[in-house]
Amino acid sequence: MDKCIFCQIIEHKIPAQIVLENEEIIAFRDINPQAPVHILIIPKKHISSLIELNKNHDELIGQICRVAKELAKKESIDSSGFRLVVNTGPNAGQAVNHIHFHLLGGRKLKWPPG
Ligand code: 5GP
Ligand code: ZN
Repeated sequence: MDKCIFCQIIEHKIPAQIVLENEEIIAFRDINPQAPVHILIIPKKHISSLIELNKNHDELIGQICRVAKELAKKESIDSSGFRLVVNTGPNAGQAVNHIHFHLLGGRKLKWPPG
């Protein structure tokens, strides 16, 4: 079976505008940005959604949150504010079944999100 689209980005088989990469995590610009800054932060390990998380992932998820903060600083949206979103399942519109954290900022974001 073909690997998921994000696993292919991790393997550099599909091009992406990568903004950060380390041993566990990769972050790249969303292909269809919903805000001036729209970055996807994902673990390199294929985890299909937030539902699959267990205690062993705690450090990884903590690291992703810290990376989000660092990228927000790098993109100069740390003081204006930003949102970190994890769509999970059909009602949330999760389209890619590889857990991903949307980092959105650079404009006033609406709430509720719709
Ligand atoms: P979801 O709706 O699953 O939370 O978000 C999936 C996101 O992945 C969407 O915002 C979509 O634009 C983005 N996306 C889907 N395919 C690709 C791709 O091949 N490259 C990049 N950079 N983003 C993608
Ligand atoms: Zn994957």
